[in-house]
Amino acid sequence: MQEYIYMDYAATTPAAPEVLRGMTAAAEVMWMNPSAVYRHAEPVRAAVEKARGQTADLIHAASTEIFFTSGGTEADNQALTAALEYGGRKGKHIITTKMEHPAVLRTCEYLERTGRAEVTYLDVPSDGVVRPEQIAQAVRPDTVLISVMLANNEVGTIQPIREISEIARANGILLHTDAVQAVGHIPVDVKELQADLLSASGHKFYGPKGTGFLYVRKGLRLPPLIHGGRQEKGRRAGTENIPGMTGMGIAAELAAGSLDQHMKQERKLRDYMTGKMQAEIPHCIVNGSMEKRLPGNVNLSFEGVPAEYILVALDMHNICASAGSACSAGLPDPSHVLRAMGRSNEEAYQAVRFSLSYRNTEEEIDTVVSCTAEAVRRYRAGGRK
Ligand SMILES: *Cc1c(COP(=O)(O)O)cnc(C)c1O
Repeated sequence: MQEYIYMDYAATTPAAPEVLRGMTAAAEVMWMNPSAVYRHAEPVRAAVEKARGQTADLIHAASTEIFFTSGGTEADNQALTAALEYGGRKGKHIITTKMEHPAVLRTCEYLERTGRAEVTYLDVPSDGVVRPEQIAQAVRPDTVLISVMLANNEVGTIQPIREISEIARANGILLHTDAVQAVGHIPVDVKELQADLLSASGHKFYGPKGTGFLYVRKGLRLPPLIHGGRQEKGRRAGTENIPGMTGMGIAAELAAGSLDQHMKQERKLRDYMTGKMQAEIPHCIVNGSMEKRLPGNVNLSFEGVPAEYILVALDMHNICASAGSACSAGLPDPSHVLRAMGRSNEEAYQAVRFSLSYRNTEEEIDTVVSCTAEAVRRYRAGGRK
């Protein structure tokens, strides 16, 4: 028996065994500098390009459109800052939503603070799905960038990126999407999405931490953000993280090969868990659209019960789950995503996120549901509601 039940796969995933083996081999053998001119460094260059190809295939991109980064956060920072610089002559207005990941929100705030951007932060409807009309209404003559996530990391809602791209194109605006929660979990096709820029992170799809990439549509010549050597076509200088790239490449290939099967499995577990929670716990609310939703996301509010109370109780049973996303000093903040969806501060303290994997089982879910039910009952019996 495992000593814990992990239902926090949206926070991070364990690297697959194939990934770890590939990384170890790369670290041992591929230590030469891929920029070196001698023939012995050739396999290292080849390893980087192989990983780039595997990564590109996962999102139906060309390998020349993939730029490796240190993770999703860096890809988001790069995308926003570079797109703004690129659009500089037209203006400095960015449209985004209040439900974005902090990697996007804090970057936008920084760009505003330094006088480089004006940002419109859109509220989202109560189902957690942005409407394209909202975007269209926010467009101004000086808008240079629209940044909307493909899938939300807290409530798992999937955003209509294709429709938003069409608005962007019609107005000569760049479109960036933070696809960190989507890549490797649902089909992502950059051609279909018509995205100009797309961010992803290796450790969210069973790859290594500290790896990620930014997709940049062919022909879009963005300024570099990490200055130095000519790695990554001069866009991101610094000697390459070969084991990391290798590991992410393997993870990308594995994800592409089992996407349909894993999605089916996760959807089944998600619906089983959601149904069972609602059947066994009164006043249990599902947050976010059930239709436009990541297959592994279960986000629930137990009316009157702070998420923190439930999480501590679950932790006592060795169950790993989260309240929304960000934590300060180990304590959950009210979810900015639920606030963006129009919920009160109190309600935003009540959301618990279980993010499932195809690796979870119905037995695990049964245990988690009964522990959650017990915690909710205990809290409510305490007269606090
Ligand atoms: C995890 C996450 C990020 C940050 O990715 P890192 O690789 O951890 O830097 C960005 N956006 C979303 C939606 C995420 O879930």
